[in-house]
Amino acid sequence: MRFSSEMIVQTLSGVFGYDSFLPAQEEVISSLLAGKSTLAVMPTGSGKSLCYQLPALLLPGLTIVVSPMISLMKDQVMQMQALGVKAEMHHSGMSFEDLIAVRSKIRARALKLLYVAPETLTKDEFLGQFTDIEVDLIAIDEAHCISTWGHDFRPEYRQLGRLKQIFPQAVCFALTATATHRVRKDICAQLAIPLENQFIESFNRKNLLLTVEPKRNTYPRLLNFLAAHAHESGLIYCFTRKHVDDLADRLQTDGYSALPYHAGLSDIQRNQNQEAFIRDEVKIIVATIAFGMGINKSNIRFVVHYDLPRSLETYYQEIGRSGRDGLPSVCLLFSSYSDLITLQNIIQRKEHPERIEVALEQLNAMMNYVRTNGCRRIPLLNWFGEKYSTPGCGMCDNCIGEEGESADASIQAQKFLSAVYRSGQIFAVNHIIDILRGSRAGKVKDNNHDQLSVYGIGREWNKEQWFCLCQQLTKQGFLEEQMPYFSLRLNEKSWQILHKETQFLMPKSLASALMDKTRANCDQTLWERLQALRYRISQERNLPPYIVFSDATLREMASFFPQSLESLKQISGVGEYKLKEYGRDFLEAIQAYASINGIIDSTPTKHTREKPAAQNQSTRIGELFKSGKSLQEIMIHSGIKLDTVLQHLCKYVQGGGSLPWEPLKQASTLSEEDFARVCAAFSELGSDTISPIYQKLN
Ligand code: ADP
Ligand code: ZN
Repeated sequence: MRFSSEMIVQTLSGVFGYDSFLPAQEEVISSLLAGKSTLAVMPTGSGKSLCYQLPALLLPGLTIVVSPMISLMKDQVMQMQALGVKAEMHHSGMSFEDLIAVRSKIRARALKLLYVAPETLTKDEFLGQFTDIEVDLIAIDEAHCISTWGHDFRPEYRQLGRLKQIFPQAVCFALTATATHRVRKDICAQLAIPLENQFIESFNRKNLLLTVEPKRNTYPRLLNFLAAHAHESGLIYCFTRKHVDDLADRLQTDGYSALPYHAGLSDIQRNQNQEAFIRDEVKIIVATIAFGMGINKSNIRFVVHYDLPRSLETYYQEIGRSGRDGLPSVCLLFSSYSDLITLQNIIQRKEHPERIEVALEQLNAMMNYVRTNGCRRIPLLNWFGEKYSTPGCGMCDNCIGEEGESADASIQAQKFLSAVYRSGQIFAVNHIIDILRGSRAGKVKDNNHDQLSVYGIGREWNKEQWFCLCQQLTKQGFLEEQMPYFSLRLNEKSWQILHKETQFLMPKSLASALMDKTRANCDQTLWERLQALRYRISQERNLPPYIVFSDATLREMASFFPQSLESLKQISGVGEYKLKEYGRDFLEAIQAYASINGIIDSTPTKHTREKPAAQNQSTRIGELFKSGKSLQEIMIHSGIKLDTVLQHLCKYVQGGGSLPWEPLKQASTLSEEDFARVCAAFSELGSDTISPIYQKLN
């Protein structure tokens, strides 16, 4: 069966209301529509669901979606129904009547999408429904659950390998946001997906603003932060249930709309709190790591880590819950040395002996992220095996901070470094701070450190300030930290400070610079009114607000002021069905506001507007190569020949992009000597034309 690109684009804009694809969506959809079973590994928020939802609408038969969690199924079904698509779910938690109703819809061929739990799909009794029903596509969400190598193995998923025999004509689509090489291989093997049908996207979430602050004066700082994010939804993660309860209480007392969420609450209470958050009835959830697994809320605008996370895996997953709609969202982490010690102690005491080393290594990676003075995306993405080296992401405190102000802290740096030196360079930061602050701790006395000349010379600063200084010293390379005990040691650069040959500068607050990055670029008053309208409609229809329209859609409205149905239809996220359902209400609100303020409609039509998402192919290929994909992988990924890949890379460089040298060199088939000869010839003769080079090298 052939599907023209017009049909695909028409469905994208008519049903979903989008004018262009996000990276990889088009390729994945084409692969599925060409009848190829496919695996897509794409990060949260990259629009994986659309990759099967759109084909489901074009294919004549039914699409079955396997999903591991009822809450996710529910969310997806609501999303689809809100677009006017015939979608239902089928799981053991439903009433008998509801199940019968769904089954009769299946047999009446009245559904396009059916969401089921994995254990349902392999039951013979359930499969009996499908004897003469055409199933064209089977999408397996969270496909990493199929692999025993994955972090979330589910035995029910193992049965899904049988689907190929049960529905031999159906195309299989596995999708996941987490999969190591091993897990990917496993998924492909289990589901008979050819290895060349894998699409792997970069895990860089460009719209997340990453920032780390020292954990001192934390509560007032948090209030400042929240004040800047009034009316926005966000999550605050704490380490223990008690912290969660205390912080949620405190925020409530101070007038914030906040609720707790942790495993100590009753199921009912937890569900209620989660539901209130999803429906924007409460703005902030204070939670332990338990929160967030089953939610799809797209308009989470910030994630705060009040306590230090124990690994980059948890951290990435938790911050990943924000900004699914693609709008800028802030991820703020408060880091402190005492949290680090607490976590180390917990690991030593509670982890399984075999896991201790790994857990400490994970914690160490977390600390490298916290301490880096380079772009935060580098340690984060590198930890997940992605070679990320682009300088200046513009969306982390360090990249933004480069432009920021700093203060001279040379005197304190000298004090700190001499305390390290005089105590023998075998102690960690806490002990050094105890010495500087003249502590009476046993460890100080036992080591006779109260006799040192530096004892008590740093009382002008509190512990957190000293910790922050130490963090900056290590970050800027003036001090070394030795594993496994984080003992501090001087290096050559330390002596420059001790000999007063160099100044030591500490960055000042980045808060204002950061705020500018995420401030909504639209009419604030209208944006708030539209949010209020969306909230009212969502309450009437008993739907979460983000399902009525996403934040991204409302912000477009508040920046283009569409004042006719025709204009409104041009807004991203406004498809035909939603236009019919909610168009009038939103139009009236915009018209009323625009006429009072004399604002004209400036909505561009969808196909004339700039398309940031649909990069040209050379840029995409250039970026893939930079993210560490090999030429081979790019050929497979993009379905093009080596020559064409190279041509695109050339264009990328000619267009001002730069490529990493080592991987290019590795990809070449030349020997070292030949390579050197070629390079020499190029530097001698230039690279404008190739023929002199050929002649010279014979
Ligand atoms: P994932 O499953 O990968 O986490 P989702 O499928 O939930 O991502 O999509 C994330 C967000 O992006 C959703 O709000 C979705 O509506 C939106 N989206 C998907 N495709 C597009 C597109 N082509 N253009 C604009 N927004 C899109
Ligand atoms: Zn950066």
